[in-house]
Amino acid sequence: MPSGAAKPLAGKTVGIDPGHNGRNEDDPSYINHMIWNGREEETCDTTGTESDDGYTEAAFNFNVARLLRDDLLRAGARVILTRNSNDGVGPCVTRRAQILNRADPDVAIAIHADGGPAWGRGFTVLEPVADGPNDKIIKSSVRFGGDVRSALLAGTQMPESDYYGDHGVIFRDDLAGLNLASEPKILIECGNMRNATDARLLTTTRFQRRLAAALTAAIVAFLGGR
Ligand code: ZN
Repeated sequence: MPSGAAKPLAGKTVGIDPGHNGRNEDDPSYINHMIWNGREEETCDTTGTESDDGYTEAAFNFNVARLLRDDLLRAGARVILTRNSNDGVGPCVTRRAQILNRADPDVAIAIHADGGPAWGRGFTVLEPVADGPNDKIIKSSVRFGGDVRSALLAGTQMPESDYYGDHGVIFRDDLAGLNLASEPKILIECGNMRNATDARLLTTTRFQRRLAAALTAAIVAFLGGR
């Protein structure tokens, strides 16, 4: 095998933002304080959602982020995370954007799972809208979002959302993580924690590993140069 083939991400830096944090509910005054997201005020963070069985989105996000980090490291990438445990509070969404921007990654992804209507299924890719600071990363982010969408459809059992966005994609101008990004970036809602079928998938390590592998494939495709 050619030596380059095993390390398709050698020399690349990838940012991962696992949404929320496991102790956010312990400090509401901090989590609810208002920050400027580049277009308007929003809260520092939220607690995130959870499955009907009480599996939290914060834990899901962090578990997938760790699996993704491990896959990316094996592929040769340098990896930056916005938090290194699921046992803390914050940081605010503005601080998360700053951590990633300062690392100057080639691409970044925020990992979430949605708290949608119980009847709704599927994943959604959230894309940035041009607002000045992020103008030069819109086209590349849309291309990366397409790679993520394709990889999830090909590599996981999660369908595109049937309740949110258009064929698994929506543009959002109200999120600090997208408004303030200086690298190609999307946010993925990996499924709906409040839907029983999605929750059964989202809460298993088997599915989380498949998801991490699909996201790695998307990052390799995006950074592969086209
Ligand atoms: Zn979330």
